[in-house]
Amino acid sequence: MGGYGSTRWGNHRRKALIEEATRLDISFLVHESGLRPGSDKHSRLVWMRDGHVRNSMRIGLCAQERTGVLRMSYIALGWGGDRLDIDDSIELVTTVPHFGGLRWWFRCPECGRRVTKLYMPYWALHFRCRLCHGLVYESSQNSRHDEHPLNRWLRRGCRRLG
Ligand SMILES: [Zn+2]
Repeated sequence: MGGYGSTRWGNHRRKALIEEATRLDISFLVHESGLRPGSDKHSRLVWMRDGHVRNSMRIGLCAQERTGVLRMSYIALGWGGDRLDIDDSIELVTTVPHFGGLRWWFRCPECGRRVTKLYMPYWALHFRCRLCHGLVYESSQNSRHDEHPLNRWLRRGCRRLG
């Protein structure tokens, strides 16, 4: 059912940055796989950063008329650094936009919200929505108090030099 304590480090970890998490984007999957009712596709996704493979997984995408399932197989690091084989599935749901067609969404396995992106931070074993993992954007974690002196100093410096 999820709720408090369902993320592995509870409230003891710092806020994880959204930029650091492995991301799954529904529009990317739909575009790449040609997802449509009746389709059944398999692929391997690889995430790169700085020329290195950061994460990879086997996925299967299959869809009925209005719903679908994303199945994922990947290796995650457990508490002691041991490698864990994870097999997970995420429900896909659809809405019908005004202009017709189908719009696909992930249903977050923890909170049940419809979302377009799921994330897996380095400390997590599963993909969840941004809120369930407590992810914040890098820019929002820098408070004004932290940023302000540097900006002020730069502006003063530029004026003096210019
Ligand atoms: Zn969620």
